Amino acid sequence: MKAIAVDTKRRAVELIECEAPSIVHPTDVMLRMLDVGICGTDREICSFEYGTPPTAAEHLVLGHESLGEVIDVGSAVKRVKVGDLVVPMVRRPCRHEVCVACRQERQDFCYTGEFHERGIKEAHGFMTEFVVDDEQFMNVVPHELRDVAVLVEPLTIAEKALAQVRQVQQRLPWACTFTPAGPQQHCHRAVVIGAGPVGLLGAMALIHSGFETTVYSRGAAPNAKAALVESIGGRYVDAETIPVSDLPRLVGNIDLIYEAAGASKVAFEAMAVLGTNGIFTFTGVPGRKAPIEVDTDLIMRNLVLKNQVVLGTVNAGRETFEDAIADLAAFHRRWPAAVRSLITGRFPLSAHRELLLGQPAGIKNVLTFA
Ligand code: BGC
Repeated sequence: MKAIAVDTKRRAVELIECEAPSIVHPTDVMLRMLDVGICGTDREICSFEYGTPPTAAEHLVLGHESLGEVIDVGSAVKRVKVGDLVVPMVRRPCRHEVCVACRQERQDFCYTGEFHERGIKEAHGFMTEFVVDDEQFMNVVPHELRDVAVLVEPLTIAEKALAQVRQVQQRLPWACTFTPAGPQQHCHRAVVIGAGPVGLLGAMALIHSGFETTVYSRGAAPNAKAALVESIGGRYVDAETIPVSDLPRLVGNIDLIYEAAGASKVAFEAMAVLGTNGIFTFTGVPGRKAPIEVDTDLIMRNLVLKNQVVLGTVNAGRETFEDAIADLAAFHRRWPAAVRSLITGRFPLSAHRELLLGQPAGIKNVLTFA
């Protein structure tokens, strides 16, 4: 079968032929891959800044944002059946007994760092025709989401962040809940940094849970991303003309900054304008560049004097995938055109080099096997 892989020794990105997997364990599920999304992590792996092939392998099959169709199941499989559409999870647990996170199927919080991530770290990914994996890592998606379900995995990043934001906001001594159509609460003004897929899906998730949301991204309006943000009820601010220091004037007290640009400079600049009782969530994994100057005294003073919280969030567990599937269905009902427009195009495998190594336009590019 065909697969798109990186060879880390030869530093090559290529279409390879490899052996198709087969069902070995009774709980194995075989998928025919339909769509695989391409993200910044894939592009970073292709520039050899990130990513590790499985032990003893020379290449790593890419791809972690995916959608597959179940075509065969082992004798003990209960969660899925042939014909189901599924989005597999990315991270696989470490084997250490002491890792309480992995032993409770929360490998997204793995303590040892010895987890695997399909398509990223020591496990082949989904940019291939057939995949076999245990049913415990499969999440069934309704058929009506067929065309957009490849967005589930990037949406889990926002869902995991938001679940933690809700928990952190419970520390506030008054109710910080959101009642649709009720009065606007004090704790729901968010700034999203970056208008890539993680930022835009994050903006959808925030707006859907009642946040007054501003997306801060490079590019003067009018442009497609600004129009998309406005069509879902958000505000778009051009980072090239409006300095970060103006954000509090535009937004008010910034209760949440959701960083989705993977650029540390703008992130730390924005941290300086986080509001009282605010939360800053990092989701991007930046490439290592030269150190930058940051006003650490100001940031530290604010953290203390304004009760701020900074949290990083990576990967997602089963519940978060389930939240993402339910929310993607809700976004799709509420903003069908906006959700569809996140997917720039579906491309055949032959387009992989341009998509992974070139400067492709648009928001989410998808390789399609269907
Ligand atoms: C993926 C996550 C993964 C992270 C770090 C992201 O692109 O969406 O699932 O945990 O990269 O490897």
